[in-house]
Amino acid sequence: MLASVAELLAELVRRPSINPMGRTDLDPALCHEGRVTDYLEAQLKLLGVPYRRTEVAPGRCNLTATFTPKFPTVSMLWESHQDTIPVDGMTVKPFGAEVRDGRLYGRGACDVKGGLAAMLSAFGELVTSNPERCAKVTVAFTIDEEHTFLGASALVKELHGIDLAIVAEPTGLNIVDSHKGVVRRQLETTGIACHSSRPEDGVNAIYRMALLLHHIEAYAAELRSRPGDARLGSGSLSVGTIHGGVSPNTVPDRCVIDLDRRLIPGESPAAAMEELEAYLRSKTDIPFTLLPELFACPPLVAANSGELTARLGAAINAVVGKHEIHAVPYGTDASTIAEAGIPAVVFGPGDIHDAHTKNESVDLRQVEQAVQVLVKLALGTE
Ligand SMILES: [Zn+2]
Repeated sequence: MLASVAELLAELVRRPSINPMGRTDLDPALCHEGRVTDYLEAQLKLLGVPYRRTEVAPGRCNLTATFTPKFPTVSMLWESHQDTIPVDGMTVKPFGAEVRDGRLYGRGACDVKGGLAAMLSAFGELVTSNPERCAKVTVAFTIDEEHTFLGASALVKELHGIDLAIVAEPTGLNIVDSHKGVVRRQLETTGIACHSSRPEDGVNAIYRMALLLHHIEAYAAELRSRPGDARLGSGSLSVGTIHGGVSPNTVPDRCVIDLDRRLIPGESPAAAMEELEAYLRSKTDIPFTLLPELFACPPLVAANSGELTARLGAAINAVVGKHEIHAVPYGTDASTIAEAGIPAVVFGPGDIHDAHTKNESVDLRQVEQAVQVLVKLALGTE
């Protein structure tokens, strides 16, 4: 028997699991998921269920466990990430797990330790009550959702026979059945370095990039003007960073920009970038190189999740009385799971507007309701 879901959540928030997201200025003692993984593993041991701890990146592990009833009705996956974003500028104690007016405060309380605690608690309830006729439930606690989706990508390779998946993110107990995808790549121009007192002897990579940027901006405007998806709108392209040059008195021989391309259903990461490259080559003969893909997450498409949405919707209605079905702009692990052929939707307690904030918090009542919804979904609502 596990502790209450509020206590589980508090214990999770007290354990830092910051995803450094490529930064090197953070306290290593607060980074990565290990402390949370250890705690979750201890809970699974308490429950006495078979579980698997898989190292995905050095010292960073996915954790999966399965409850198999006597007569399984369906095989479902409940997935939640273990990592949070960093804690810069927070106005509440990031790892304090303080409770005020029915809300628990701290980094990850909303995104997504509230949902994680709800999944663990509901799983614990099933294991303890051991109903004969029920869904077979696999819980998966993954790493690196906030940065490059390493955990979900590794997880889908070891999943077998799963019929449907619920991915925890703060949806306010509503269902998200579609979202945009993203692909990130860098684009590089090169030139010839020389002393800046004789710039005519060199080739300035920054000037070359400036000319390209003009076309990239025009392409981005054209993308936005396309009809797009009925619920998600159009795809988009943004240049996020630019780096070039080594000193004021050297003509730069290299300039690099970061491209962030948001994808709508029907667009693939590779094809979207190939299209941009072809567009630029058609507009200019400035030489450039599109560097290898840094990371990509496909869009989540609602097409094959209708039955799952109906089942989950019925379970939410039984507990909360109502729900909405949303399409959202942000990415989640659900699209990686859906791409592996498993119908997947996003569901969890908490409001997305409270995620990633300086005073992040979650409504504890919603966390408790999420537990009830998940148990109902596993048992079947008829
Ligand atoms: Zn999240």
